Amino acid sequence: SLKHDREWDYELERIVEAVDERDAKKVGLQFPEGLKRRGPKVTDDLRELLPEDVTVMMSGQPCYGACDLDTYLMRRTDVFVHFGHSPMKESEKIIYVPLFSNVEVLPIIEESLEEIEGDQVGLVTTAQHMNRFEEMREFLESRGYEVHTRKGDDRLTHEGQVLGCNYASADIDADNVLYVGGGKFHPLGLAMEHPEKNVVIADPVNNVVTVADTEKFMKQRYGAVHRAMDAEKWGVIFCTKIGQGRWDQAEEIVEENENAYLITMDEVTPDRLRNFDMDAFVNTGCPRITTDDGPQFHKPMLTPGEYEIAVGNKPLDALEFDTFHG
Ligand code: SAH
Ligand code: SF4
Repeated sequence: SLKHDREWDYELERIVEAVDERDAKKVGLQFPEGLKRRGPKVTDDLRELLPEDVTVMMSGQPCYGACDLDTYLMRRTDVFVHFGHSPMKESEKIIYVPLFSNVEVLPIIEESLEEIEGDQVGLVTTAQHMNRFEEMREFLESRGYEVHTRKGDDRLTHEGQVLGCNYASADIDADNVLYVGGGKFHPLGLAMEHPEKNVVIADPVNNVVTVADTEKFMKQRYGAVHRAMDAEKWGVIFCTKIGQGRWDQAEEIVEENENAYLITMDEVTPDRLRNFDMDAFVNTGCPRITTDDGPQFHKPMLTPGEYEIAVGNKPLDALEFDTFHG
């Protein structure tokens, strides 16, 4: 799926410079799943450029985002390079190397104009297409639209950027939001978070225009809440990944409910939860595990907000999309 990364510039010079500057002896590299196959080549290139006494090592842990830095490797290396995601937490030791898509965006945006109602539009995209954000904005303006953008919050690096767990950049004063990017993962979250908005999807990767429809998604969430309503034993997941921990929310639940048990883990997978004798789970880690992978777990898994509904603390219509704030 990453055919556009063939000419990926992984910024060797910046890494070599940082190693020089810090007189580093150990360099750690972390790639998301889709870039791991590039690891050996990046390592080879670095070994060639770096002094012989420098050791380069790659993280073998799964990696889903900048929320998911390999802190074990980070602590044991002098320079740590995180590839493919935009910074969530800046630190002197970490070098973030982005991955930009080369795909053309204007043709599909042109097609998407039909779905935009009126002349006010919000514009959002993912870090991968940020290199073309100004191009997108100028195109829309040239077609007479007033383009609304904002930098969401501290969890986000760029103006107009969205994450699977954060759509604060779409908190703008327009009824339409144009999402430019591949797939439905982000626009669905966006439409769930902003149900009052017309979310138009211009997908330059699959070359299609659609309008986000949350009905199926909502039904699934209500279904999970209903199935969890008669649960007695609750497993409350606290995720130990650096940018996925919501301790206060996890702790609050176990303090109030004596049938709730805290479970700490990094990877939240069906296999790891199966052996616990629970009736339902509340996940305080990445919200997309709950909403997108939830059906794969053997017992219902809810977001913290959905849990409040299932135990009767809140009414059913309080159901909201779960997000992380920066
Ligand atoms: N970071 C990207 C999206 C990553 S895809 C973004 O925000 O745009 C999100 C998926 O990563 C989740 O649906 C889940 O399948 C996986 N994931 C994230 N955190 C995880 C965790 N702690 N354990 C297991 N899977 C996780
Ligand atoms: Fe991390 Fe999940 Fe948010 Fe992506 S959606 S940044 S994986 S917490």
